Parts: sequence; structure tokens; C-alpha cells
Amino acid sequence: MTPTTLVTGGAGFIGSHLCERLVAAGDEVLCLDNFYTGTKENIRHLLLKPNFELVRHDIWLPIYVEVDRIYNLACPASPVHYQNNPVSTTKTSVLGAINMLGLAKRRQARILQASTSEVYGDPKQHPQTESYWGNVNPIGPRACYDEGKRCAETLFFDYHRQSGVDIRVVRIFNTYGPRMHPRDGRVVSNFIVQALSGEPITLYGDGQQTRSFCYVDDLVDGLLAMMKQEEEVGPVNLGNPVEFTIRELAEAVLRLTCSKSELIFLPLPQDDPAQRQPDIAKAKSIIEWAPKVGLEDGLKETIAYFRRKLTA
Ligand code: NAD
Ligand code: UDP
Repeated sequence: MTPTTLVTGGAGFIGSHLCERLVAAGDEVLCLDNFYTGTKENIRHLLLKPNFELVRHDIWLPIYVEVDRIYNLACPASPVHYQNNPVSTTKTSVLGAINMLGLAKRRQARILQASTSEVYGDPKQHPQTESYWGNVNPIGPRACYDEGKRCAETLFFDYHRQSGVDIRVVRIFNTYGPRMHPRDGRVVSNFIVQALSGEPITLYGDGQQTRSFCYVDDLVDGLLAMMKQEEEVGPVNLGNPVEFTIRELAEAVLRLTCSKSELIFLPLPQDDPAQRQPDIAKAKSIIEWAPKVGLEDGLKETIAYFRRKLTA
């Protein structure tokens, strides 16, 4: 029987790519979003598909729908947006997890949580394995997101142990690609938009902090494979293990856009992690997953998207 799949945050950056893949695979897809950071534009091409449905709803509130699988992605992911209304961010992660886990329990549906590398905070272990408990400041400006996602993981594992809910938890590392919001403040979209508009490239700190960037198509492959497999509830890291400094990213963007934008250095935001790189041995062994798209190819696709967007 065709599964009915709920994607919360389905009009967001990753959610819209996931909905697209699920619709193409023939699932009945229910996309739920409150449009806080997502847009109708991201899913406009899916609206006329017979197996796609859109619901405007906030996951703080319970919802009664008949679904077989749930991908719980609803939550702003950019520091600028999740810090804009931090109380709302924690409510989305915690109340949203309770509501979606309650729905999964009633429906006996499998539910996947989009957790994050931010559960490792400013990590003292490098690269980060899933067994690392992290180094998070519980009262800092990133805590609404980091602690919200950590509490959501706690709820997932407690619903699993206490009520037998069929969970999957993935920890997503920095992901980029087309349909990132041009002004969402994340580093890849910021640098590309700045380079294409001839504005200065804003490096925070000395630009020597590192991140590992995963192209969105690779990430969606990982989400689908984790949902499908029967062996492991998680947590499982999903990310590209190739690590770059933020300055190297800026230089790559300048080269690929042929931009003459200057580099400027601004203060490093509080609690900004110094380094981040996933150990993906677990994903390799359980779902035989590893990213295929290198930074240069992924950036070219993303730059082409923003060029179209900025000239539209
Ligand atoms: P995004 O901001 O583009 O998408 C989030 C979506 O959730 C948006 O469409 C937004 O409108 C919706 N949303 C927010 N609060 C909601 C609420 N209360 N009720 C209903 N909808 C709500 O971000 P993204 O990059 O697509 O991230 C998707 C998920 O993946 C998030 O849970 C995020 O924490 C996680 N994640 C993303 C990254 C990344 O690098 N992109 C890294 C780690 C984890
Ligand atoms: N960053 C930057 N310039 C920008 C935006 C971000 O130097 O215009 C840095 C930021 O300080 C961090 C890294 O890029 O060290 C990644 O930031 P992002 O907000 O994309 O994600 P994070 O991994 O911090 O959640």
C-alpha cells in the first residue's frame, strides 16, 4: 500500500527537497509548515501533483492526521532566525517533538527526527562521533536551538523505550544547496549572495573556524535511507566529512562567482563552534551512505540557483 508520509517543515530548504523526492517515489505526501522560514515558492511546483498536499499548521499544536511515516524537520535552522525568537525555537523543538511523537504513537508510524551537529556544541572531540555527549552552553544565545534539539532527542528515546515508538534520529551537519533563503544568514547563502551582489564578504572572527558542508541531494539520500532501514534507531551523523575553514569557503565562492567583492572581518558571534566535522562511519556501515557531491560542484549548483533568484 502507498505510504502516507508527513513532512513537518516541508516548505523549508531541506524539507522541500525531501517532499520532491517522496512525491517522485509515489508516496502520498502531506507537507506541514507554518511558513516561519519556509516559503510557498519552495513547493509551488508540487502543488498540482495529485499525491501532494499542503497544510499550514504550527507543530506546537497537536494535529490529528492519518499518516504512516513522519519526517520531523520543522524548526528554523539558521542562527539568525532561531535566535530572533528563542522561546519560540525551544517550543518548536520540544512541544513539536511531543506532538509529533504522540501522533506517531497513536498511528504506530515510524518517525525520523532531524537533529543536528549543534547537539555537540563547541566540540572538544574532533571529528565528532555519535558517542560524544557534547559541549553546549545551556544559557547562551545558541541554547534555544541546541538544548531544544537535545531535549527533542531525549523525548524521542524516551518515547521509544517507554512506548515502543519506532524512531530514527539523525544528526545533520551543515547542509547547503538551492532553496536556501537568500537572507537567512547562513554562511553559504550569505557569501554567495554577497559575491553575486558585489557586497563585501562578511567573515566572522578570523575565518579559521571550520565547518563541513554537505550538498542537499546527498543529505536527502541519507534521510530516505535512514527511514527505510530496520537495523538502527540512531543517532546517526549525516554530513560531509571534508572540512574547510570559513575563509577557504569564502575564497571558493569568490573564485566560482568571478566576484571582486572584498573580504571584511566582523566579530565572531558568541559560542560560535571553532570546528565541526562529522565521523560518518556509522552511516557508512548501516545505510552504506557517504556524500557524493564535492564542495565545488555543489557550490556551482547553488550559485546558479541564486543567480536566477537574484535576477528574477
Ligand atoms: P529551514 O528554516 O529552511 O526549514 C525549516 C522549516 O520549518 C521552515 O519551512 C519553517 O517555516 C518550518 N517551521 C519552523 N517552525 C515551525 C513550526 N513551529 N511549525 C511548523 N513549521 C515550522 O531549515 P532547513 O535547513 O531546511 O532545516 C530543516 C531541519 O533540519 C531543521 O529541523 C534543522 O534544525 C535541521 N538541520 C538543518 C541543518 C542545515 O544545515 N540545513 C543542519 C542541522 C539540522
Ligand atoms: N559565518 C561567517 N559569515 C557569515 C555567516 C556565517 O563567517 O556571513 C560563519 C559563522 O560565524 C560560523 C560559520 O560561518 O562560524 C557557519 O555559520 P552558519 O550560520 O552557516 O552555521 P552554524 O554552523 O554556525 O550553525
